[in-house]
Amino acid sequence: LKKLSERNMDIDVKLAPESQNLHLSKSGCQGFCQMGPLVTVLPDNILYCKVTTSDVDDIVEQTILKGEVVQRLTYLDPATNKHCTSYDEIPFYTRQTRFVLKECGWIDPESLNEYIATGGYGGAIKAFLEMTPEEICREVIASGLRGRGGGGFPTGRKWEIARMQPAEKKYVICNGDEGDPGAFMNRSVMEGNPHAVIEGLMIAARAIGSDEVYVYVRAEYPLAVKRMNMAVEDAEAAGILGNNIFGTGKRMKCTILPSAGAFVCGEETAMLASIEGLRGTPVPKPPFPAQCGLRGKPTIINNVETLAQIPRILLAGAQSFKKMGTPASPGTKTFALTGHVVNTGLIEVPFGTTLREIVFSIGGGVTTDEGTPTDGMFKAVQVGGPSGGCLPPELLDMPLDFDSLLSAGAMVGSGGLVVMNQQTCMVSVARFFMEFTQRESCGKCVLCREGTRQLLVLLDDVIEGRATLQTLDIMELLAKSIKLGSLCGLGKTAPNAVLSTLKYFRAEFESHVVDKQ
Ligand code: SF4
Repeated sequence: LKKLSERNMDIDVKLAPESQNLHLSKSGCQGFCQMGPLVTVLPDNILYCKVTTSDVDDIVEQTILKGEVVQRLTYLDPATNKHCTSYDEIPFYTRQTRFVLKECGWIDPESLNEYIATGGYGGAIKAFLEMTPEEICREVIASGLRGRGGGGFPTGRKWEIARMQPAEKKYVICNGDEGDPGAFMNRSVMEGNPHAVIEGLMIAARAIGSDEVYVYVRAEYPLAVKRMNMAVEDAEAAGILGNNIFGTGKRMKCTILPSAGAFVCGEETAMLASIEGLRGTPVPKPPFPAQCGLRGKPTIINNVETLAQIPRILLAGAQSFKKMGTPASPGTKTFALTGHVVNTGLIEVPFGTTLREIVFSIGGGVTTDEGTPTDGMFKAVQVGGPSGGCLPPELLDMPLDFDSLLSAGAMVGSGGLVVMNQQTCMVSVARFFMEFTQRESCGKCVLCREGTRQLLVLLDDVIEGRATLQTLDIMELLAKSIKLGSLCGLGKTAPNAVLSTLKYFRAEFESHVVDKQ
């Protein structure tokens, strides 16, 4: 049991003969990063936080052998000063709607049996044995599911376009190349429930008439690569993937590909080039990949979270899915909640949830730089990673959905959500995100390559006291020009951090200018 603290090792161990009923299993991420390492004792549903090896004896002696709770290891709710013994009592969990993350942290991600025991592959069985490709596309269109990778394009429509292409060969690709600073949603799904991703891919392939799928996984996620590979092997051995899917005679090959290590390879056309063994550089669209993608064949590319939702949508039905979220943004969204917030972690909420609910109810409020909870210190939240934008306190009650965020100058993007306190310098924040996207520019377009470089120079001028008020106008004009003149999403969204901070925190930029002159 002391091996609990040793990471990435096999811990499916047999204990002493008198403990034969005890099964020790690793799980994926349970989301509550702030309180990890977590240990759940089932079936009593007891959750222990910040567990160390020195706590193991107490857990065994008190909980496992005597059925008592080790209270000092339970979560102490700062709002009520009460100990919570289970997930059902902890506000961080009770205020979420865990749909795609439902099994993450509960099942052993390396066990096909545990996935099947939760209803896993039921959606794929329905798709292969009971539904036609048209019916699958129609159901996904009816669900209103929009791509969780950033753009929010309707998933079912993308599938329908690919289904209608008269090609012999078609491909489906899962985009798991999550490279945004502060984002780890896709990683958690791939590490915590890899079979859900494969099942989503199978259903997508069945819908468009493809027999070959790829998962393009960020190479810096070795555990995700390992577990996705294990899931493929287990699914093949069980006849779920391979040459005779569910005994239907249909075949499907699934390949796990570690990514090329460049942020731009998350862009669809760059990813296609990378998979083909070429340099990952975007090319103009149209033609869209659904018409002409990998090796010139119709290809759909969906992100990890999008695909992991598909099996549940097929099983529960489109109307059930649409009960969550808003009419234009149905369903839920995972966010990586980080920064100056009491409860950092991976969360999932229905679209339409306000920032206030996320930051203060789920997140537990804002902290100082030193991590001390503090009232009234909220300054901004960066939504959507480097492509997103910084939103001020006035927008705390704005419902989070694809369209509201776009109109506020941010975007759902990857789902990164970085909370900032009053001690944060917004000019430095803009510079941080700008530097990231500048470094990741592939260099093909002049405005993205050189414009972002010049924006960084101007930001440095502001920070180091060389700027005038006119500098701010030039920055704004340049940022807008980069958006207009860039080819791909990276360049088109790169100036968002600068534009949103200029829009909502201009006085702070001006104070830098005035103060330093
Ligand atoms: Fe490359 Fe930037 Fe142009 Fe995209 S916008 S193709 S990243 S130079």
